[in-house]
Amino acid sequence: VTSAVIYARISKDREGRQVGIDRQEADCRRLAEQRGLTVVRVFVDNDTGASERSTKKRPAFEEMMKLAEAGQVGVILAYSNSRLTRRPLEFERLVAAHNKTGVTFRTVVSGDDDLSTADGLMVARIKASVDAAESHRISERTQRAKKQAKEEGRWQGGWRPYGFTADGVTPDPAEAAVVEQVSRDILDGRSVAAAVRDLNDRGITTSTGKPWTTRTLLRVLNRPNPLVDPTVGEGVRLLLADPSRRTTPGPERRWLLSGIARCGVCQDALRGSGSSMGHGRGTYPAYRCKTGKHVVISAVTLDQYVTAAVVARLSRPDVADLLAAPAVDTTDLRHEATTLRAQLDALADNLDIDLRTLARRSRALQERLDQVQAQLAAAVGMSPLAGLAGDPVPVWLRLDLDRKRAVVDTLATVTVNRGARGVVAAEHRWRADLPAFDPRRVVIEWKV
Ligand SMILES: [Zn+2]
Repeated sequence: VTSAVIYARISKDREGRQVGIDRQEADCRRLAEQRGLTVVRVFVDNDTGASERSTKKRPAFEEMMKLAEAGQVGVILAYSNSRLTRRPLEFERLVAAHNKTGVTFRTVVSGDDDLSTADGLMVARIKASVDAAESHRISERTQRAKKQAKEEGRWQGGWRPYGFTADGVTPDPAEAAVVEQVSRDILDGRSVAAAVRDLNDRGITTSTGKPWTTRTLLRVLNRPNPLVDPTVGEGVRLLLADPSRRTTPGPERRWLLSGIARCGVCQDALRGSGSSMGHGRGTYPAYRCKTGKHVVISAVTLDQYVTAAVVARLSRPDVADLLAAPAVDTTDLRHEATTLRAQLDALADNLDIDLRTLARRSRALQERLDQVQAQLAAAVGMSPLAGLAGDPVPVWLRLDLDRKRAVVDTLATVTVNRGARGVVAAEHRWRADLPAFDPRRVVIEWKV
């Protein structure tokens, strides 16, 4: 009989709030029973006081890892990968412990990542980097929103806006979860009036303790909340601003993989569309090829999945050399070119200077403009990967969409094959909360 330990962690994130310690332990014990494992110890950390980015010690995790590294633990059980850790460094420590002592990991909802194979390791790394990226994103969005609110002097007191704490700018996780759910329902085709009824039926009130009305709910939905998935929040605001978008797609929203990912049937480039009709009711953003029939895949999820794979790839040593080349920031060059052109125009319009001076000055300007344009042309020919060295998650998050697209295109070909409809079996899921997304449909081939 292999000895197993359980690791449980409470935290402020959504899963931590929804799945308490007792439930984490009970589910892990059931898993142990199914697998014929004997649980010898339970380790519990309380992370609720720590911020998402905190590097505060987790004493129970530390103690457990010491045992594991000493070869005294056969299996570590946890509710999910993100309960075990959201920190890339801790993840690497788990991998190292596995390599040294053969300790393995089993989770209730994340599937089993076989860390003894390259593929299993890759999948586990992707999950870990997505978890880490999500923490960073939430924290960054919160900081940004606070700063912006301060600068704009928005919310000067008065009623506390729903979805935020008493200071009016710090998002409140529990209320933000309500806002996100309502937003998703509305994107799924539910009317605002129905959403109002539902909230009132469930006894959820506004920040002043009153029942919801259409007007108060619209005000909440139109106020961006950093804890709400931005695609969902923006989507619902677009929808509310223009009800006709519900049936006719608006101007094409720019997606990470539009024109980059390919249809597995006809090899045509997939295009993203803001509101594709799904097989069920309602609409969701999706990629499809020109025929519109071969493949349909959730744009939001595919973007996340490919992002995770690319970020994992960027952290591998074999691409490090490509990333280390210095990047050329072309902003200054472009500004200089614009200025030079304007100066040339102004010179031609200046009637007060004699022809010889005109010729001399314009030749000087033109020469400089030629140089700048040559430098710009050289910069364009450089690899989009240049200058990306560093911790891949923050590096990636800093890139704008055009640069991200260039990076994906340089690194990989992404092909999406047809898939079966409906729920994907748990062992094949990429993430436990995405039951309809089947990662086996997506083939990522690395070019570099
Ligand atoms: Zn096709």
